[in-house]
Amino acid sequence: MRKPFIAANWKMHKNVQESVEFVDAIKGKLPDPQEIEVGIAAQAFALPSMVHAADDSGLKIIAQNAAAEYSGAFTGEISLRGLADAGVSYVMLGHIERRHLFHEDNELVNRKVLAALQMGVTPIICTDETMVQKEVNGEIHYVFQQLMSVLRGVSLDQIKNVVVSYEPSWAVGYGQHANPVLAEEGCRQIRRTIADNYTYEIADKIRILYGGSVNPDNIGMIMNKPDVDGVLIGRASLDVDNFLRMVNYL
Ligand code: PGA
Repeated sequence: MRKPFIAANWKMHKNVQESVEFVDAIKGKLPDPQEIEVGIAAQAFALPSMVHAADDSGLKIIAQNAAAEYSGAFTGEISLRGLADAGVSYVMLGHIERRHLFHEDNELVNRKVLAALQMGVTPIICTDETMVQKEVNGEIHYVFQQLMSVLRGVSLDQIKNVVVSYEPSWAVGYGQHANPVLAEEGCRQIRRTIADNYTYEIADKIRILYGGSVNPDNIGMIMNKPDVDGVLIGRASLDVDNFLRMVNYL
């Protein structure tokens, strides 16, 4: 059984005080962490205070990005060593906004993924690509080449510690475009891509999230899909009541 994972992506919103107040407000109202995992991806400067505020609530604190290098002359970057040290559990890598606005490519995201795994911070690998048709053993498969490029060098043992998020560009930031059927299709094909490149057993265990215009009205339909193990929520996660409705969607 794959444990559902519901995560907020606050992007460049909320200062330290607002972030901590949010954590304090939701802390006692989260679902049982044995049943559903809940996380918040916040701005880097707020992460240590949020880890402290989350205490033993089970709430996971997530970084939105990190450098591929652990330390050195990289002015302005966020080190994975620092994130691990601050108690941050996950790091989002390769989000569509990082790719489109900051020109991150597969090679860079791949190095970040390997560094995160090495440092023990679980990567949430975001993939935004549309599927490519390819013949595999005489059958037509839909392949996520972008995903396989960023997984280059990730071993059979390491892949078990990866979370993948399918965030198609037609859905991120648009409001009305979350489509549960297409969300399921994307997540299903990602699972198949991982099965083809690793093993079916591993693909069956990996959590695949969907991201893009998730809100309190559509979360149930999306989470009901068999290959969607969770969601990454942008705009709709900024409000406490909305977020609590979504994490308690069941
Ligand atoms: P959205 O953003 O929910 O506002 O579409 C999702 C994301 O970027 O992770």
